[in-house]
Amino acid sequence: MCFESLAMLAWRNYGCGMRNELENGGVAAVIVAAGRGERAGKAEGPKQYRTLGGKAIIARTLHHFLNHPAIGQIVVAIHKDDEALFADAVGPLPERVSIVFGGATRQESVLLALRALSSANPAKVLIHDGVRPFISADLIDRVVSGVSPESGALPVLPVVETLKRGTPAGYVAETLDRSGIYAAQTPQGFPFSAILTAHEKAHSSGGKEFTDDASIAEWAGIPVRLVEGEPDNIKLTWARDIEMAQQRMAALAFPDVRTGNGYDVHSFEEGDHVTLCGVDIPHPKRLNGHSDADVALHALTDALLATCGAGDIGTHFPPSDPQWRGAASRIFVEHAAKIVRAKGGRIANVDITLISEAPKIGPHRTAMTEALRQMLNISADRISIKATTNEKLGFIGREEGIAAIATASVIYPGETPE
Ligand code: MG
Repeated sequence: MCFESLAMLAWRNYGCGMRNELENGGVAAVIVAAGRGERAGKAEGPKQYRTLGGKAIIARTLHHFLNHPAIGQIVVAIHKDDEALFADAVGPLPERVSIVFGGATRQESVLLALRALSSANPAKVLIHDGVRPFISADLIDRVVSGVSPESGALPVLPVVETLKRGTPAGYVAETLDRSGIYAAQTPQGFPFSAILTAHEKAHSSGGKEFTDDASIAEWAGIPVRLVEGEPDNIKLTWARDIEMAQQRMAALAFPDVRTGNGYDVHSFEEGDHVTLCGVDIPHPKRLNGHSDADVALHALTDALLATCGAGDIGTHFPPSDPQWRGAASRIFVEHAAKIVRAKGGRIANVDITLISEAPKIGPHRTAMTEALRQMLNISADRISIKATTNEKLGFIGREEGIAAIATASVIYPGETPE
């Protein structure tokens, strides 16, 4: 039977398979996470405890089994030195999850975990690598459905590269026929008592070391059906695998782009200049206000703070506080930008509209853009400064003051999927 039709068969059996799980003693899972993971770099510690998108790899893997309706008891095999690391990584767990301390080899760790399930005696057990966090519910379904009372199920992928056998001297000895050759993944599913018995037998025979459970089943004469694996279900083995997985999580993160707006007005009084967007502009009046009354920067400060729910300019710089008297308003903007950055935000763009009859803004736009570029540390093409009159209407039209509207767009770190 070809590979594709095996997968289709597993799919067709899905419905009744799920129903049967509840009737025949259930499905348990063993997650093997006792390794030291030194191939991924010793300094950073065991790789199952590294984080992807802010969550430990082992926690992500465990999550998929905890949330799958077919899975009951779960035993996680961890290293005896990692109890605190594990507790910290996964947080509080339901009672149906237990841990065992693993042995010196993967094989021994699986045996110890299977023994821990003896009293529960599930009908089926899935055995999965803790460092395959991208397992899907569909794959769990296929493996569960692929297990029968007499046979196990192994998710596999066709090997796409041409296979060569090499000589010890580093030359091609021969090209292998890759038809019928598959790469084995986990979770590997088995009838529970059969795989436990096979593991016990392999352990007491003390001979060959097996690298996966399907090999033990094969050795013990348990038939193992092939089911379709998943290319994404990779085993994070090398430091490079973890880096790629981190990039993948970042790419999957929900884009968290936020917009804030701000509005401010200051009235004119006798004077000789106004300060707008950090630039002093000669004018027969000045803006009345607590600081330098830079109406544009006050609106911008509010817009930036609004993107992360951090209140408004008055929250951070109370007008009652004498230390801000005559202060340059750039400190307000820089403070807001610092709050945004502390939350991981990147300012995508800011847009300011000044509403006034005079002075003219056009001749000062370049200087204003440069001042904002320095305050925000973003490129000039992300800064927009516009001006409009109020068509002689209202208080602005009567030249009693200036208003400003500002908008800021900030990209925050996205929520990563489970
Ligand atoms: Mg103000």
